[in-house]
Amino acid sequence: MDFSIPQERKLVTDLPGPRSLALQERRERAVSRGAGTLASIYMERGSGAILEDVDGNRLIDLGCGIGVTTIGHANAEVAEAAAEQARKLTHTLFTVTPYEPYVRLAERLAEITPGDFEKRSILVNSGAEAVENAVKIVRRHTGRRVILSLDHAFHGRTNLTMAMTYRPWPERAGMGPFPGDLYSVPVSYPFKDGLSGPEAAARTIDYIRTHIGAEEVAGLFVEPIQGDGGIVIPAEGYFAALKAFCEEHGIVFVADEIQAGIARTGAWYSIEHHGVVPDLVTTAKGIAGGFPIAAVTGRADIMDAVQPGGVGGTFGGNPVSAAAALKTLEIIERDDFIAEAQRVERALRARIGDWAERYPVVGEVRGKGAMFGVELVRPGTREPNPEALTAILRHATAHGVIPLDAGSWDSVLRLLPSVVISEALIDDAAGVLEQALDALG
Ligand SMILES: *Cc1c(COP(=O)(O)O)cnc(C)c1O
Repeated sequence: MDFSIPQERKLVTDLPGPRSLALQERRERAVSRGAGTLASIYMERGSGAILEDVDGNRLIDLGCGIGVTTIGHANAEVAEAAAEQARKLTHTLFTVTPYEPYVRLAERLAEITPGDFEKRSILVNSGAEAVENAVKIVRRHTGRRVILSLDHAFHGRTNLTMAMTYRPWPERAGMGPFPGDLYSVPVSYPFKDGLSGPEAAARTIDYIRTHIGAEEVAGLFVEPIQGDGGIVIPAEGYFAALKAFCEEHGIVFVADEIQAGIARTGAWYSIEHHGVVPDLVTTAKGIAGGFPIAAVTGRADIMDAVQPGGVGGTFGGNPVSAAAALKTLEIIERDDFIAEAQRVERALRARIGDWAERYPVVGEVRGKGAMFGVELVRPGTREPNPEALTAILRHATAHGVIPLDAGSWDSVLRLLPSVVISEALIDDAAGVLEQALDALG
């Protein structure tokens, strides 16, 4: 793969540099503080796993803007596909007069999503909009109202999806009223609960039976690997048991794959690691190399339950974004980015897999593909250690490495690098994170 920026970390100023500091001053006068930022380092360009800031510093990106630029920053082929489409046709609104890229992307989604039954898709603008539409679809299909999500879930920031999101701060605080008929039910979080998959599923199912009533439930929404919740990977057998329970009670099983889908975990969709075929799947983040587009895909009878006009939206399935998504999917297949994600997993395990033995503040390192979490604890306990996460993020961003935070207790260091990241960059970035861990004792 050709990169327009050398794949190396290189600092030429302090971070943030003078140009970033000047932009930060302008930003504070013009942009709402509600749009908070992890690091006030303003980026100018990117290539592969490297971001270059406005001062000419080169930083290692371990976040991909929350798992979006999985195929690397500013991919030249995706840029060309989008430019070509932009010169041809930028908008008609699919529900007024349709166009081919929308249809083609729906065909591709039917091929790559789990399950070999007949499928349909709708395309929308964002992950939250995909989840909202999935809620509408499962309610229409079942004629029931109750929607379940799992503890530690993240499903978005619109009114409906923030109400399906687990933690109150900062996503929800002071922003009610919230819609009703939404419940959060216990998840399987092996590091915290020590339960096997079947045991955790029995707890979830008992909770649904005793608090809600299975026959009331339209849909169960799950992240097969929870992202914002802290790279929580439910124990083996957990989702299989929940899926069987859903089938028994006519509940639609929806996999929210917005963060973990599209090759990131070493499979097209992360639910594949659990051996379960969901009824519906939501896709967004990594699908178009950075362009905004999202989808709901699933069983034709469920997707077609909605009356014409019941779903839609002005910009949904925009032709330029759809062209970018089609090119992204083509590249993922052609260059076998599923295998690349597995390579990243091996490299991360080899480099940081022993942190729990080496550092008292590390409780566990876990992950799949290019999606890893480092659970930070108070030494000798399993208590969350949010101060350690703050210290690590501060050190990393000041030294040219951009990881992410996560977890309901703000105590999970989240790594979502591009699948094109080299072993040398992983090694260099891990060294910077280790300096921070060393300083924590
Ligand atoms: C990011 C995310 C969303 C919301 O997507 P947006 O595009 O930010 O609206 C929903 N679900 C999951 C699992 C996510 O990671």
